[in-house]
Amino acid sequence: MYQVSVISVSVETIDLSLVTLKKYVIGSGEPKVVITAGLHGDEVTSIYAAFKVIRELESQKINGTVVIFPIANPLGFYARRRESPIDGVDINRVFPEGSGHKITRKIVENIWEEVKNADYALDLHCAGLQAFQYILALYEEFDYVKSFVANIPWEIVVESTGLRGQLFVEASHNGIPAAIVETVGGASYFSEEWAKNLKDTVIGLLSNLEILDFNKKKVNQIFLSRIERIKSPKEGFFVHKAHPGDTIREGDVIGYIDTTTNGELIEIKSPIDGVVISLNSYRYVSEGDSIAGVAKLKK
Ligand SMILES: [Zn+2]
Repeated sequence: MYQVSVISVSVETIDLSLVTLKKYVIGSGEPKVVITAGLHGDEVTSIYAAFKVIRELESQKINGTVVIFPIANPLGFYARRRESPIDGVDINRVFPEGSGHKITRKIVENIWEEVKNADYALDLHCAGLQAFQYILALYEEFDYVKSFVANIPWEIVVESTGLRGQLFVEASHNGIPAAIVETVGGASYFSEEWAKNLKDTVIGLLSNLEILDFNKKKVNQIFLSRIERIKSPKEGFFVHKAHPGDTIREGDVIGYIDTTTNGELIEIKSPIDGVVISLNSYRYVSEGDSIAGVAKLKK
């Protein structure tokens, strides 16, 4: 004989709330500006700046609506990674249709839903730890982008490569004035000073658009062509001579590679007249690594 016993099994679902996409909506009516930060999860100066903007706006009269996604890639942010760690997708390459895991798709869908109905879109990023803040836009292609960029009170404006799938590129192609501001930071390091500069730039934009009643703030802008990447001719320690933000001439020495093989110093010269946008952080470089980004001055 045998006995049958019934074992009671209970299943409990525990909600760990792994992902929350925070969207701050400040003010109401038109015009509507959408600001995103942290689509690349490790570009934390932009995220810090977005929170500074939110704090400043909360006590102000807003003529219109400002929608802010301060941590647009929350899983990447907490994992200290550029991409979405759940699927390795670079979220700023898959607009507007999305890709990868359903979380990534949902993020893209929710942000695009706001941006496609916006009057303006501004996306905040970081260009590295040794960089200079700049505006990146398709200003040569779209007049409404150029007019929008003129309202962003920052001097350096660089033409984008126009790589599709980027939020600001897709917005621009959909008739929405859009741009990126790249500031100093990355690899999950932030700069307090540049977060403040970026916050002031965003507040200046909102003032120039008359969304805030502050004094307008205009600057003389330098419009540059696309960034040229300079590659290291050999492995070694890349020592900087120029600084991010410097205007340099063709043939000027940007830095040198201190090789480990025979102690040879190789000068790295700029192939163009331009502005130094970024330099490789102080890391040992391999042959062929990008060591500097220089945006070309227009004739
Ligand atoms: Zn980025």
